[in-house]
Amino acid sequence: MRGMATFVPAKPPIHGETKETLTARLVEIGESAFRAGQILEWLYKRRATSPAVMTNLSAKLRAWLEDTFDFGSNEVILNKASNDVTSKLLQRLRDGSLIETVIIRAPQEGVGLDHSRKTICISTQVGCAMGCRFCASGLAGFKRNLSAGEIVAQLMAVCRLEDAHHPEKAAAGLASFDNIVVMGMGEPMMNYDALLAALKTLNADWGLGFGARRVTLSTSGIVPKILQLADEQLGFRLAISLHGATNEVREQIMPVNKAYPLEKLIPACREFAKKHGRMLTLEFILIQDVNDSLDQARALAAIANDLHAHVNLIPYNKVDGLEWIRPSITRQDRFVKILKDRNVSVTLRREKGHDIDAACGQLRLKTEEQMRAQGLLA
Ligand code: SF4
Repeated sequence: MRGMATFVPAKPPIHGETKETLTARLVEIGESAFRAGQILEWLYKRRATSPAVMTNLSAKLRAWLEDTFDFGSNEVILNKASNDVTSKLLQRLRDGSLIETVIIRAPQEGVGLDHSRKTICISTQVGCAMGCRFCASGLAGFKRNLSAGEIVAQLMAVCRLEDAHHPEKAAAGLASFDNIVVMGMGEPMMNYDALLAALKTLNADWGLGFGARRVTLSTSGIVPKILQLADEQLGFRLAISLHGATNEVREQIMPVNKAYPLEKLIPACREFAKKHGRMLTLEFILIQDVNDSLDQARALAAIANDLHAHVNLIPYNKVDGLEWIRPSITRQDRFVKILKDRNVSVTLRREKGHDIDAACGQLRLKTEEQMRAQGLLA
């Protein structure tokens, strides 16, 4: 794993401020502390994207905000909708880096897809250093961590887009999405501090007031950070990208397993579940002739039963440049049956959005290639 690079922008993103830090800055320039609450209300409840609209602030304070902070650190440059329930946004950061954010709609009876329940899958890093062998994000390597402000801005960009479909939530200053999964580009636990700061901003009453239970962090298995998360006050949900039910198989596709093999990972998961009293999810991408054997199904069932965990099976999505194959439906069903026969709670998520480069990181890779070809990216 390489060291974590950072990007220092000309102006810090406003979404990186907490009520405390913003208040301190305002007091320092002779403004009243209560102005922080007004500014944050504009940002989160009223979705302001510029100080110009903050009409209850003085012109002087608005000018100071404009000079001091970046209000547009993330720019949505592509919104690619699938035929089904998934859309992908490509967001450009100030240094030109591209990140992916996915909107997944859950069909509800009598409700159009635009108005249905939505889960937002966010990125926490540009690229990823973990090198999982089946993943498009890992292909281009790791570039840098996102700051807390960029992570919050990523979600606020989605919120503003979705507000049109949920005017009642927008009017009440609530998030216009229902769940967040931290499962996009990057290993969230390798950017732990910024991610937690961002999620605390979203959770705060001065932020979006978004419940911690509606947020799932997904990790490839960074054991010390799982234990740290177990000690957090806020009860976020945890998903483990397992993808191999024995060290031998897991190591073939996930280099992280060398540092944190199953004999370290499983006890950390047990500790998290004990402290939070909550069911974990084990993510398992099914890849033909790698981890879809009956032995793997049996070993996975044993782990799931031990942890009282839910298993989410995802048949592999083809990634250009990688040789892995999606198992046939028959093989998928056979795997599921073994888990069900052992009373494991299991879902098989036949991935939505093939037509929009659904595997994580693919849209970014393709767009970068195209931009490079057009001379728009170094
Ligand atoms: S699967 Fe997740 S942790 Fe693994 S390389 Fe891809 S983004 Fe990184």
